Amino acid sequence: MMTVEGVRFTVVGAGRSGLAASNALASRGGDVRLVEARPDAERPAGLDARVAFEAGTNAPRPGDIAVLSPGVPEVSPVRAEIAAVAAEVIGEVELFYRLSPAPILAITGTDGKSTTTTMLGAIAAAANPSTFVGGNLGNPLCEGLDELTASSLVIAEISCFQLTTCVDFRPRVAIVTNIAEDHLNYHGSFAAYQAAKQRVWAEMTGEDTLILNADDPYIAAWERPEAPRIRTFSLTNPDADAYYDGETLWVVRGGRPEALMRRDELALLGRHNVANALAAGLAADAWGIPLATAREALMAYAPLPHRLAPVATIDGVRWVNDSKATNANAAAAGIRAIEAPLILLAGGSEKDADFTGFGALVRERTRAAILFGQTRHRLAEAIGDTHRTIVVETLDEAVAEARALAEPGDTVLLGPACASYDQFQSYGHRGEVFTAMVQAMRAD
Ligand code: ADP
Repeated sequence: MMTVEGVRFTVVGAGRSGLAASNALASRGGDVRLVEARPDAERPAGLDARVAFEAGTNAPRPGDIAVLSPGVPEVSPVRAEIAAVAAEVIGEVELFYRLSPAPILAITGTDGKSTTTTMLGAIAAAANPSTFVGGNLGNPLCEGLDELTASSLVIAEISCFQLTTCVDFRPRVAIVTNIAEDHLNYHGSFAAYQAAKQRVWAEMTGEDTLILNADDPYIAAWERPEAPRIRTFSLTNPDADAYYDGETLWVVRGGRPEALMRRDELALLGRHNVANALAAGLAADAWGIPLATAREALMAYAPLPHRLAPVATIDGVRWVNDSKATNANAAAAGIRAIEAPLILLAGGSEKDADFTGFGALVRERTRAAILFGQTRHRLAEAIGDTHRTIVVETLDEAVAEARALAEPGDTVLLGPACASYDQFQSYGHRGEVFTAMVQAMRAD
């Protein structure tokens, strides 16, 4: 375990993970300074009194170990500036790894991380009451440190941002859910994004298990690491270690398929959620948790908010909130999960994504697309003028247009395919605003 007592740290970025990292270090006797680039930032509430706080700078003290916020892009010159003065640059996940007495099972990938993490978290908690579930999910790992012992278990959602500042991080089981183009403006290129994801297994050994999506064309092209055991899951291929036959989810154990659960026992829309359950079941099995425990936890699992969550059916029209679909791949999974005639609401802040394939899917699967936000014109162009598209500015207007257009039997899906920061604080905020607008229709 890392020595903290008397060691100097600069934590860069006073977000929730920076706060958790600062407090974890201060309570272990570290000499900690927390910096935040925003000049008007105030000392965060809840910050340990022993931590020095400074706003308006990103600079570590020379020779400090820098704990870098995942908010600083890989391509930002700030990274090099910090690396030039710091003794070492790590992230909050790496810090947690060095301080945690408990083993970590990690989930990364482009989409389905939170769903798979909370599925595996529910399974793990059923097997071990001292399970901590966190990470990119919203509650930083360092917030859980004090409750962990060697017999605890950590189920950690790890973003690709967080992987860029991992060094010795060794999960005992890791899942890569899938890979699609996302966050190119953070990493600089799709190659750099994939390289970040691959860091999850850099320190894994022959005792560890890496779980990969056998259906993913990008992952199929990766050079497989030699050290960890590799197990795969597939929605179609019975040669995978966990697969779906259209009715039942199977996990192959000792060469023999054993039923994990029936599809109709999983209360989630969409085949992508079957893939998430297969991955979670396989990870549980790799960690020695009985399939029966996994099945029971998965049967009780309900969708997380803003992930294909039905809001209401009003005048025969079903309204569904998939605000968490912040890239085209995730939004595509949501669109494919819905059988009814579909009106799509999409758009949001710009990430320089390519919408060509998404545009084709929208033409094929929707009755109309109503586009709003910063990316509205680029989306309209990708969908093309042979399809019914309506371009507006705000979600408000989009909902009003959808209401005018929708007929009984239709589903209206908020599946933005974009982040929300142009008009909202977060995907959660966007989803809440949408939900409130739909619920207000009931009162009309
Ligand atoms: P993440 O944490 O990676 O963003 P979530 O589980 O929160 O993943 O799901 C985000 C969005 O991605 C949801 O809106 C959902 O519709 C879609 N999604 C979930 N799982 C998958 C998957 N396996 N493949 C593609 N899209 C998915």
